Amino acid sequence: MLDKVLIANRGEIALRILRACKELGIKTVAVHSTADKNLKHVLLADESICIGKASATESYLNIPRIIAAAEVTNSIAIHPGYGFLAENADFAEAVEKSGFIFIGPTAETINLMGDKVSAINAMKKAGVPCVPGSDGPLTEDNERNKTIAKRIGYPIIVKAAGGGGGRGMRVVRNEGELIKAIETTQAEAGAAFGNPTVYMEKFLENPRHVEIQVLADGQGNAIHLGERDCSMQRRHQKVVEEAPAPGVSEQMRNKIGDRCRRACIEIGYRGAGTFEFLYENGEFYFIEMNTRIQVEHPVSEMITGVDLIKEQLRIAAGQPLSIDQSQIQIRGHAIECRINAEDPQTFVPSPGKIDMFHSPGGLGVRWDSHIYAGYTVPPYYDSMIGKLITYGESRDEAIARMRHALDELVIDGIKTNIPLQRRIMADENFFAGGTNIHYLEKKLGMA
Ligand code: ADP
Repeated sequence: MLDKVLIANRGEIALRILRACKELGIKTVAVHSTADKNLKHVLLADESICIGKASATESYLNIPRIIAAAEVTNSIAIHPGYGFLAENADFAEAVEKSGFIFIGPTAETINLMGDKVSAINAMKKAGVPCVPGSDGPLTEDNERNKTIAKRIGYPIIVKAAGGGGGRGMRVVRNEGELIKAIETTQAEAGAAFGNPTVYMEKFLENPRHVEIQVLADGQGNAIHLGERDCSMQRRHQKVVEEAPAPGVSEQMRNKIGDRCRRACIEIGYRGAGTFEFLYENGEFYFIEMNTRIQVEHPVSEMITGVDLIKEQLRIAAGQPLSIDQSQIQIRGHAIECRINAEDPQTFVPSPGKIDMFHSPGGLGVRWDSHIYAGYTVPPYYDSMIGKLITYGESRDEAIARMRHALDELVIDGIKTNIPLQRRIMADENFFAGGTNIHYLEKKLGMA
């Protein structure tokens, strides 16, 4: 096993990684900014090092400082968590070049999947179903672009190959808007992502977001752990996630899951990963792959019993997968509500001191969070402060547990989105299951 792991992240995921390390007997190093010296995992880690000022560019995004921290602590491996440097190929390369293990795939894989055009091409080759599209970047040939759009059929969406975070895309409903939309998206993509390449896809009007969790050891073995439905979104940000996805049969799961599993083997994937799909009329359409652990990984853990972070650590230690596909049994249902420090009406972040805190509990209730009474939520980072996860034998039971767990959860002193999560859990269409990616914004009167 790995002797010592440096956790290059903060907040709940840093604590989640620390817990997995402790269970495996791995020593831990926390790196933190000046704003984060009182983070729970910093207090619990075997060693901690301040790597810079509050601004993420000075700390959690500062590659040389993180590498230096690994050197002075004699760490063996670095876990990037999610966000920050987790999908930064330069970081993965710098980590490995400096003689440490990057807990994730190779820099080449991160690059391959970070460019959506190359990702889609690789997936197509591996037999993963994709959205009908331009099969490559758009050129300056406007007539060619018009022909491609006509072949796909309007509406289409122009997307940046290097895009992320829901930015760099534009829906086009007729030929008259096409050329202008391509030019604007190219200019924006160049400025925002340093890569002006754009491509085209069929725009699906009312899809759901359904994604497949995979684990691969880079030694020829890969498994899938079923799907998650993350359709409850606001501004492309997930708010509630669940597993399994309502209405997805075992047969459909195994078919798409097997394609993803085989794609992992074909591209030599290593670590935990997620294939994101749009799901419409019973069909899956690949949109992108996340080459890291995701925020919503706990719902898959709850229904499979697999500890995904421990598996990441084992894979990084060079061990072959300890489980094969036949050992993955999906049982029950799990839901995750993201708890954010924000105004539940305006969504404006609400950092500050937590005066009183009470966590929910009981059978099937999991609270993944770094907050405590007296903790001050800093204004510099993402507003997510915890994840409330409930498990039930059935979806109805998981929802019933979530409702009372949200009632038990008390966070005073700052504003949170708990009232919004209560509204979602009381919503009759959510209760029925299978709402699409526009549902929450419509409910909130935004769309
Ligand atoms: P990002 O990397 O920015 O998250 P994605 O490719 O994952 O970009 O797309 C983000 C979101 O944009 C999707 O979840 C979906 O809501 C919307 N979207 C992307 N492609 C399409 C499409 N072809 N049809 C309809 N909606 C799309």
